[in-house]
Amino acid sequence: MKKANPFEEALRTFDKAAGIMGLDSDMAKILKNHERVLEVSVPVRMDDGHYEVFKGYRAQHNTAKGPAKGGIRFHPDVTLDEVKALSFWMTWKCAVVDIPYGGGKGGVVVDPSKLSMGELERLSRRYIVEILPIIGPNKDVPAPDVNTNPQIMAWMTDTYIMHVGYPEIATFTGKPLELGGSKGRIEATGRGVQYITREALKYIGLEPSKVRAAIQGFGNVGSYTARFLVEDGIKVVAISDAFGGVYNPNGLDVEDMIRYRDTHGGTINGYPNGEPISSDDPLFMDVELVIPAALDEVIREDNVDKVRAQVIVEAANGPITSEANRVLTERGVFVVPDILANAGGVTVSYFEWAQNRYSYYWEIEQVRSELRRFMTKAFHNVMEVREKYNVDPKSAAYILAIERVASAMRLRGIYP
Ligand code: NAD
Repeated sequence: MKKANPFEEALRTFDKAAGIMGLDSDMAKILKNHERVLEVSVPVRMDDGHYEVFKGYRAQHNTAKGPAKGGIRFHPDVTLDEVKALSFWMTWKCAVVDIPYGGGKGGVVVDPSKLSMGELERLSRRYIVEILPIIGPNKDVPAPDVNTNPQIMAWMTDTYIMHVGYPEIATFTGKPLELGGSKGRIEATGRGVQYITREALKYIGLEPSKVRAAIQGFGNVGSYTARFLVEDGIKVVAISDAFGGVYNPNGLDVEDMIRYRDTHGGTINGYPNGEPISSDDPLFMDVELVIPAALDEVIREDNVDKVRAQVIVEAANGPITSEANRVLTERGVFVVPDILANAGGVTVSYFEWAQNRYSYYWEIEQVRSELRRFMTKAFHNVMEVREKYNVDPKSAAYILAIERVASAMRLRGIYP
């Protein structure tokens, strides 16, 4: 099935929420457009002496509530529409958890696995120089995303510092700890999913000890989520990754699977203590809780009928299409939307930026308790909107986020 244009898909969700809340058409018009989109060329000297020119983007959707915030991805499939959709989502994600940011996102069209370390470093630095006029701790604060990591953030931070001439480290988040990174950043998205799942189960009256969970994806988000669900007494019975998966009705030993993955080329395929399953099987299992934590658009119109879970927590970005979400809502499945469920990562990025700005660093316990406070509050704020409008959680999350951003814009007024 052909994938929807990501930005059009994002606008569909926005339009639905805007319609329900009765957002005025001028405000809707403004919010459906990006404040600024920059396209840059990134020339890089390759190791053999010749030059390649890569295309890069940085999009800032809305900064009514604060600087733009969002990752930078390096991937051959990066497109302008994708970067625009992702920055649009970031505006709503930041607004749902009520952190003082707007939405941004960047990307370079490149397959980084084909670059040497030196080429990757030169690409990262030159891309930052090209987008330098629009980034900074008060303007736009990038972070890691697909195929970018703390080392790349370190090179980017250094490049920024060399240009401005003073050690401003709050321009990037997701940095190594030695360079002002926050404790708890690596586990943050999984922790956030844990806190949100706790609240969701309480809200619909499911006892964690009676919940069986199936998880698609065993990378950063999937593996931390699995570990933390077990911590909360949930039985994780199925996990998959890109190469296959495992099912064990008695519960999987997540720590053992992480060790297996780390010693078997990054995959759990072939893990012995359970039955082998396919990459997609967890989505359609007879369990109470399903967590898609890998790819977008995995639950669609053509397969939504196979879903048997009572609760789905969208840990990945956009794993359920808007049409599939409609079908699930009609069937009474409780879907916790991505902009709420996986906002733990950007929330700890916010903590990192805040720590950098007052040069005082938190212990892990403080990071976790603050994260729990933000996530729990956001969950209940979304549920209040859900009850007020009698809508599904995804629409409620968008209504809440749009209301917060639109309200900031109304107070400021549209310049001039
Ligand atoms: P990752 O690269 O660490 O892991 C991705 C996992 O998905 C891997 O286990 C991979 O094998 C698996 N996978 C890939 N294709 C698959 C397929 N066809 N079927 C089953 N599994 C498949 O990525 P991540 O950081 O864990 O991100 C996962 C999702 O969460 C993405 O949608 C990402 O945008 C979203 N997300 C991540 C963060 C974060 O902080 N890392 C924050 C918010 C949202």
